[in-house]
Amino acid sequence: MKAILKKFLSITLCLAFATVLFTGNTIYSNAKTAKAKNLVVVLDPGHDTTHVGCHYEGFEEEIANLYIAYYCKQELEKYKNVTVYMTRYGFECPYGADPDSKSACLSARVDFAKSVKADVLVSLHNDYDPDLDKTQNGAKVIIPNPNYKPAIYVKGSQLGQSILDQLTATSLNINNWKMCPNGTGLVTRDSSSSTYPDGSAKDYYALINQSKSAGFTAVIVEHAICTNDSDRLNHLSTPEQYQELGIADATGIANYYGLTLK
Ligand SMILES: [Zn+2]
Repeated sequence: MKAILKKFLSITLCLAFATVLFTGNTIYSNAKTAKAKNLVVVLDPGHDTTHVGCHYEGFEEEIANLYIAYYCKQELEKYKNVTVYMTRYGFECPYGADPDSKSACLSARVDFAKSVKADVLVSLHNDYDPDLDKTQNGAKVIIPNPNYKPAIYVKGSQLGQSILDQLTATSLNINNWKMCPNGTGLVTRDSSSSTYPDGSAKDYYALINQSKSAGFTAVIVEHAICTNDSDRLNHLSTPEQYQELGIADATGIANYYGLTLK
């Protein structure tokens, strides 16, 4: 009797484990196969010369982000079944030149992604430390929080990890962001005042919460920290270095979606 019970229990546990594995796998392979037809990627070179990013020791974030985006696009287009758009192709803001229109500009970028039926919006940035703490260095990816549409969180965390794997292969460290430290380089940030329709905390960043509301995943890649001398000199100083970052982003995106080279 005991032996039968033991056998029954072990079969039940095996089935439960298999279900967990199968369910976990289904989410990921759905992400791969459903998009295998044609994946629409919108790259968002963060900021522009109207809404500038961080500037430090000759580094200008809005210019660097544009370089990285072009190199990323060029690399991604080596793969089959993918269409790549950018939210801007030049230095100036294409969504109105009003310097006070930062939030309107961000909304317009999400609207653009919506208009081309984006599967994913990847916003490309670089960070700085506001206290000029030179020990802060490395890469992180800001992903959607688990609220409101948890599947978007799952996609964002898997895509974010895939990109981060490539960025750390370029010798960048993982940034343990002091705003939301967790040591993984994958971070979520909640709004303290706004909520989704189900009452849960909104994602802090407009780009992420508006994309989530529209039904697609957005992640913000913070490649490196310009106030760290090593990051700036070794990763953010030459077109070749921007190319290395753009290729890393593209490879991370391609790996996650299971794209194959042409
Ligand atoms: Zn930025």
